[in-house]
Amino acid sequence: MVLPIKRTIIYGPINSRRLGFSLGINLTPQGKKYCDFDCLYCHYGKTEYHKLNPDDDDIFPEMENVLTEIEMALRSDVEFSYLTFSGNGEPTLYPRFKELTYEVNRLARKIRPYVKVTLLSNSSTCRRNSFIKSLEYIDLPIMKLDVGNPSLFKRINRPVEDLDFYEIVDGLVDLPNITIQSLFLEGDPDNTTDKALNDWFTCLQKIRPQHIQIYTLDRPFADKDRYGLVQIKKVPEEKMVKVVETGRERFGFKMDRY
Ligand code: SF4
Repeated sequence: MVLPIKRTIIYGPINSRRLGFSLGINLTPQGKKYCDFDCLYCHYGKTEYHKLNPDDDDIFPEMENVLTEIEMALRSDVEFSYLTFSGNGEPTLYPRFKELTYEVNRLARKIRPYVKVTLLSNSSTCRRNSFIKSLEYIDLPIMKLDVGNPSLFKRINRPVEDLDFYEIVDGLVDLPNITIQSLFLEGDPDNTTDKALNDWFTCLQKIRPQHIQIYTLDRPFADKDRYGLVQIKKVPEEKMVKVVETGRERFGFKMDRY
């Protein structure tokens, strides 16, 4: 079962477990899922568009239109505390992402200073200069790291070929004040085995994020038939609690289960 693709730039507000009332910003090309990952568990189903040519930039929503919609939402009487870059795919692949974050931050500070600008990213662009600069305008960057080794990365997140797992981890190490979000699943593949968790904690010890948010398959995800023999399932609550306890007690992380 999958969720329908969002067809608008602004959606919500959604009452999310992690953020409370959050207004979503969807920057993907009209009505499409656009991501450089194809996670087994993605609730939008299989990735339709992995990569575009540079001259395909014009199929993304115009920055001026995005800003007009955000300004209207900020001036409306709709209540929300977070403005979140998320949507159908990876928001940092938007061609003018850095400029956009600057403008969105400026609008939020001017109209509703208490609203936090938030990002939900899969971390694929975390080494790009333009992305690093955009962090100056994002109050809460939440970056994905589901696994601690390249083989599980390939099997669970199914990235485009030129993405290197260790380069992403190195990129995350260099980012200040980030939150890491990780999804756990059991079955085949499984990122909750002793080795998988060990590798994941090893990466986290290098990254030293401000906060770690873990969750499991609580939402709809792509039909397993789409992936042939893949059998994945939700991780039992006791195991999730144990991961949090290990993170807090053994490694001193601020970690929560969502
Ligand atoms: S990174 Fe997010 S949008 Fe992209 S495939 Fe994974 S879950 Fe879906």
